[in-house]
Amino acid sequence: MVQSSLLEPLPSRKRVSVLLPLPFPCALDYAVPQSLADSLAPGDVVVVPLGGRRETGVVWEQTVLPVDLAPPPPPEIAASRLRPIKERLDLPPLSAELRQFIDWVAAYTLAPPGMVLAMALRSHLRGEQTAAAVGWVRIGEPPESLRMTPARRAVLDALPQGAAPVTMAELTEKAGVGVSVVRGLADAGVLKSMLMGPVSPFAEPDPFHNPPVLEGDQATAATELRARVDERAFSATLLEGVTGSGKTEIYLEAVAECLAQGRQALVLLPEIALSAQWMDRFARRFGVRPAVWHSEIGQKARRLTWAACEDGSAKVIVGARSALFMSFRDLGLVIVDEEHEAVFKQEEGVTYNARDMAVVRARLAKAPIVLASATPSLETLNNVETGRYRHLVLTARHGGAAMPETHLIDMRENPPPRGLFLSPVLVEAVKTRLGRGEQAMLFLNRRGYAPLTLCRTCGHRMECPHCTSWLVEHRKKHVLACHYCEHTEPVPHACPTCGAEDSLTAIGPGIERITEEARSEFPDARIMVMASDTISGPAATAEAVGKISRREVDLIIGTQIVAKGWHFPHLTLVGVVDADLGLGGADLRAGERTMQLLHQVAGRAGRAEAPGEVLLQSFTPEHPVMQALVSGDFAAFMAEEADQRKPGFWPPFGRLAALIVSSENADAADNAARQLGVSAPHGNGIEVLGPVPAPIAVLRGRHRRRLLLRTHRNIAVQPILRRWLGQVTFTSTVRVDVDVDPISFM
Ligand code: ADP
Ligand code: ZN
Repeated sequence: MVQSSLLEPLPSRKRVSVLLPLPFPCALDYAVPQSLADSLAPGDVVVVPLGGRRETGVVWEQTVLPVDLAPPPPPEIAASRLRPIKERLDLPPLSAELRQFIDWVAAYTLAPPGMVLAMALRSHLRGEQTAAAVGWVRIGEPPESLRMTPARRAVLDALPQGAAPVTMAELTEKAGVGVSVVRGLADAGVLKSMLMGPVSPFAEPDPFHNPPVLEGDQATAATELRARVDERAFSATLLEGVTGSGKTEIYLEAVAECLAQGRQALVLLPEIALSAQWMDRFARRFGVRPAVWHSEIGQKARRLTWAACEDGSAKVIVGARSALFMSFRDLGLVIVDEEHEAVFKQEEGVTYNARDMAVVRARLAKAPIVLASATPSLETLNNVETGRYRHLVLTARHGGAAMPETHLIDMRENPPPRGLFLSPVLVEAVKTRLGRGEQAMLFLNRRGYAPLTLCRTCGHRMECPHCTSWLVEHRKKHVLACHYCEHTEPVPHACPTCGAEDSLTAIGPGIERITEEARSEFPDARIMVMASDTISGPAATAEAVGKISRREVDLIIGTQIVAKGWHFPHLTLVGVVDADLGLGGADLRAGERTMQLLHQVAGRAGRAEAPGEVLLQSFTPEHPVMQALVSGDFAAFMAEEADQRKPGFWPPFGRLAALIVSSENADAADNAARQLGVSAPHGNGIEVLGPVPAPIAVLRGRHRRRLLLRTHRNIAVQPILRRWLGQVTFTSTVRVDVDVDPISFM
């Protein structure tokens, strides 16, 4: 690994590479003006000319990547054609570690490195607008070896020891010198830049504030994780345990150890906006709330958080995927909670899996990473199996709470009345719980009233004009909505095809329809509906959760947001309306995902003294997923999954990369896909499936075709993809998206 020290400027260079946050294939070369010749260092934020514009970028330097990942070197440009850097901005430089991480993610995902940089810079650059983002202070006397020029003397006189920080502009004006003099003194260890602005709003979490009492395998696991943190070296550990076994409690012990060392910890949660209870929990343990990072925190909080993370004053950052691209002063621990969650995969822009890239980041930071889950992904289990990851297991729920009993309702034997969706068995069970003053939950992972609207006269189906999808009726809003794009339209009175009036019928249930049914079955119950479109944002979620905890709600009806790690002590019954829902389709992980989701939903029941029960409505009760949910034997289920994937070299026993070809013009998409098909790579352990129309063949008006590259595990897909894509030229209307390790096959 090439490490460039931030303190040592490059030996008087005439040219440097600058990475711009733009979709170019590589960094661009620029000439270094005389004024910066002795002080410019990799990581510095600079302004450069690009065409007629000014762009902000970062001085880059080739990092050493694994052979398979390394992109080909860019073409040399003659020195005479280079344009000079305009200026260096007064911002903290990007650390070598973060720069290497950016290169790594770009190389792995085949995204333009500038687009990965853009994710890291998004907040960094905002600091620019606050004039006094960085201040300079004196930290020492000049060493003997430093030649004391009049200019340097003037700076030292202007900034005595102990003086308050001043900006670069103030300092250079007061001393009557150029920027490079100040930089030179900083490089010699006499001055130092620091972030100014308001005092950090992030109080330090206290690792000794309120530690839990740990016994048995909790104690063992906590000791192990503390030891990993103490090693100050990379390691990866799977922390596995049923819901309620204390995984969170235990990984917070690792955070405590990291805090005791004065280092920083990064915790990635799958749905940060839904994590109000988690934040409270953290505050109970450490006395203060952590710094939070996700797309919905405001501009100002963003800037402060970024700066506090950069200067090390924010000790614990809890964030969504994007927190991976923050700049840490001293990262000592990474946690990924619910590591199996598909939301860690970003599907737009740079397509990356935050769980996997978190492992890379931890490795580069020489820090341990902990992956926590009740139902770990097959990928992670395989990494345990092959010895790459360590494994800690918590076997029982804390405090002796029992795991809920899971039972199947065979919908063929106990069907609901015509036009309804709740089996009499489920209705009775809910009534019993409500009668005892306990809470119940109905889960259906589908928003809206009905997923399909059909004309009874001619059979016409209401479809999205821009996508290959049915429109979902949202009865409360009186619209039909596409769940793949923003299209909505009023529910028509007459069939648009045959003109028949009052002939359109809602087919199948969404949670609005289940709510309607529940209101008539349980007229006295206080019902709360929880879906991403009825409860949006952290505040509304926290309020809803508060109501449930205070028992102001009897029956909760929700989509997958109710599955998140909520602790509802009075909830004793979970009814899953359609347990088979996720099992259709072409997704190789359909079984695994359904099992994970339903187990997580089930885990909401019986978290306190009263035992919980889970009822699964299914038309395929013999399915291995249903059987695993009843028996609770996930290890056996996952072993079977593994056996099914092994022979075909499906992940994690082989590697996948998808190419999604799309165009507004169907023929253009077909042509491009065909060309890719013709030049598809082949060889031992290399195979290409497709091209085929994507399951969502039209999305937002773009026609989509898919190709899937599958290789044996010991063959990296990146060089193959680079060569393949390099052979084909596409017309400008065609876009090819690369998805390495795809988890969506739509
Ligand atoms: P998981 O993350 O595995 O679902 P949690 O860490 O959320 O489990 O623990 C479940 C519940 O039990 C939480 O309310 C937690 O505070 C409590 N708990 C777990 N372990 C302990 C412990 N050692 N002492 C006190 N409370 C605990
Ligand atoms: Zn649509």
